[in-house]
Amino acid sequence: MPAIEARGLRKRYGDTTAVDGLDLTVETGEIFGILGRNGAGKSTTVEIIAGLRRPDAGEVTVLGLDPWKDRARLRQVLGVQLQETAVHAALQVRELVRLHRSFHRDGADPDELIERVGLTASAKKRFEHLSGGQQQRLSIALALVGKPRAVILDELTTGLDPEARRQMWATVEELRDEGTTIVLVSHNMDEVRRLCDHVAILDRGRVVAVDKPAGLIEAAGTDQDDAGESEAFEAAFFALTGSKLEGEEPR
Ligand code: ADP
Repeated sequence: MPAIEARGLRKRYGDTTAVDGLDLTVETGEIFGILGRNGAGKSTTVEIIAGLRRPDAGEVTVLGLDPWKDRARLRQVLGVQLQETAVHAALQVRELVRLHRSFHRDGADPDELIERVGLTASAKKRFEHLSGGQQQRLSIALALVGKPRAVILDELTTGLDPEARRQMWATVEELRDEGTTIVLVSHNMDEVRRLCDHVAILDRGRVVAVDKPAGLIEAAGTDQDDAGESEAFEAAFFALTGSKLEGEEPR
């Protein structure tokens, strides 16, 4: 059984159709990338998968659960790192990780997890005193604290410097090697090309292509040489959607 299966998802906000008949299959244990420009419907899609929004139409199953009806059970098995992390700003990193650990029956060791995301030196810092990159690492730790079977990471490495970005990529690969299914929403071509087993390209609320990164490059008929793989990937994106992926640091 796939980890995530969506069929014919639709979601409108007033006159805006955010998700327009979307189909998606994420296999257990893979890193699945969702790529699309701003407004393509990525956040709405992952919010539906996470049980945070109810679709107007369509079917979705996540780890065998209906995300909307079985939200409480889903919380125990699906980790979610979204753009905005709502936490108590006066609490310290270690306090926040411990608090979130207490929401789960089973979970990670707080100090090991803090180490894993590279926050050991900041474990006693209050959230409000963390840099943007540190807040980002903390939000990833909070998504992983319940030892989820699947995790949604939205803009994993936004705000991180190149070294921290590479560390985070290594962490994601480790998670996959441990059997965790990962959905990665990204604007970063390099990240998607390096990490993802499959990538779905979203455009106007639909999946316009899904393939292995190399397959997308090939299908778009773009050149592929080692030096320019990210550019080739970018060209493939353009060929499929008719638009550029604007910038690497969205919003
Ligand atoms: P992405 O994550 O790819 O940027 P979103 O799912 O955030 O895409 O948005 C898809 C479309 O839905 C956009 O046109 C956006 O402006 C609109 N939209 C998203 N959230 C809301 C909302 N809460 N109310 C009204 N429109 C929304």
